[in-house]
Amino acid sequence: MEEPKFIFITGGVLSSLGKGVAAASIATLLESCGYRITLSKFDPYINVDPGTMSPYQHGEVFVTEDGAETDLDLGHYERFTSVTLGRDNNQTTGKIYLSVIEKERKGKYLGKTVQVIPHITNEIKDRIFKVAKNVDFVIVEIGGTVGDIEGLPFLEAIRQMRNELGKERTLFVHLTLVPFLKSSEELKTKPTQHSVKELRAIGIQPDLILCRTEKWLSDDIKDKIALFCNVKPKNVITAIDVKNIYQVPLFFKREGLPERVFEELNLPFREGDLSPWVNLINKMESLEGEVVVGMVGKYVALKDAYKSLIEALVHGGVENNVRVIFKWINAEEIDDENIEDYLGDVDSILVPGGFGERGIEGKIKAIKYAREKKIPFFGICLGMQCATIEFARNVCGLKDANSTEFDENTPYKIFFKLRELVDVEEFGGTMRLGGFECDLKKDSLARRIYGKDRVVERHRHRYEFNLEYEEILKKCGLSFSGKSPDGKFVEIVELKDHPWFLGCQFHPEFKSRPLYPHPLFVSFINAAISFKENRNE
Ligand code: GLN
Repeated sequence: MEEPKFIFITGGVLSSLGKGVAAASIATLLESCGYRITLSKFDPYINVDPGTMSPYQHGEVFVTEDGAETDLDLGHYERFTSVTLGRDNNQTTGKIYLSVIEKERKGKYLGKTVQVIPHITNEIKDRIFKVAKNVDFVIVEIGGTVGDIEGLPFLEAIRQMRNELGKERTLFVHLTLVPFLKSSEELKTKPTQHSVKELRAIGIQPDLILCRTEKWLSDDIKDKIALFCNVKPKNVITAIDVKNIYQVPLFFKREGLPERVFEELNLPFREGDLSPWVNLINKMESLEGEVVVGMVGKYVALKDAYKSLIEALVHGGVENNVRVIFKWINAEEIDDENIEDYLGDVDSILVPGGFGERGIEGKIKAIKYAREKKIPFFGICLGMQCATIEFARNVCGLKDANSTEFDENTPYKIFFKLRELVDVEEFGGTMRLGGFECDLKKDSLARRIYGKDRVVERHRHRYEFNLEYEEILKKCGLSFSGKSPDGKFVEIVELKDHPWFLGCQFHPEFKSRPLYPHPLFVSFINAAISFKENRNE
């Protein structure tokens, strides 16, 4: 296609209807037809990025290859497609206002009164166009719910885009809820009617309505929604509840969604190849065994905080033909008396990334347990740091060894801040973010798993291993199997006399996709299966 087309996804009625997965699934379908796609998320909050928000507020912070801290929907976008997104694919009200205000301070508006329309809306449109390079479709998800005050500038900007580009280059997709009332046993369309009314009041007439619901919509219901919402009946699509989010593209296909998109945008019909996704679902539905992963973390009550991690473990499970059962363990509750109750029955232990001191001692106890009982252990970022600290304390006898993040006065600073290290001032900011190269040591577990000498993995952390302790830890048996090419940063540690004990300073979960599961997770789950088999023998 010569010029890209824009598909805008808005949401109505309430939040958490799965707009991100809907946007990602539309992208899957278009990509399966051979189209080049990209996705962009516009979040209406005033934070410049979600990096500083609590996981309780926002769920996981997804880190892109180019080092942006973004909304977790970007994780869905990457997992559902083959694209790699970057900082330009996630915008927030904060980012947009910040840049408009900076321009105003520099006198770029030539003395004009700076206003929401046109200055903010132009900035929004510029940022939509910025990602529209070398693609056929840009799928733009507008965060929040129609009717929120915060979302208005975004909706106004996309309204203008329809006016400027016309109907063949823009498509409005609105996701709503059609609840099923158990008492009267009927699906209710009123919330959808109101939501679309709200959207039309600000000048947007949706072309397609995706109705999130627990029952397939009958033709009567679709006709009713079509009539009240001023859309074609065939453009009312059932977005049925699913057990497995990777089914969504296939259900959308069944509802004829690609055909509807092509017709509205005046494109010839193309049949996509969804066979990899069909195979994936078949595989996921016929998994034969299961393994238990003990997840020892801080935000165990909020699964969204570990979204990519959970997905990556599931991908690793599918590749090994097993279901992954998560046993969530609050690190703060672990002590010497109860550790057996928490970890005695798991097939593997994972300590995920995190910030701050809470739960650290519990995590270290869990790691000691995994090391001594030879339970497969995977430490990610903070988990790797805790594993190294545990080893320094309990194997090398460096009593009270720690990271300066948790104890500034520790006698053995095993991890300390990037800027306290020599020669790394050029990083400027306080965190190491995004993709960095890592060289793998010959004959290491990591090298065997990846099957190559150099990998690029994504980072999000402030503290680094202190190389002063490399020799002593090495002598005691810790292997430093992954390092940055310049040798300054330790990326992977592992234990030799253990079936599977590996900690990595990066977050491999951000790069795992269902069709391309990450090798570390595949190998970890494989080790859990072996552990379980041996225990049962
Ligand atoms: N808190 C640690 C650091 O900043 C680990 C970060 C993480 O696990 N993402 O280095």
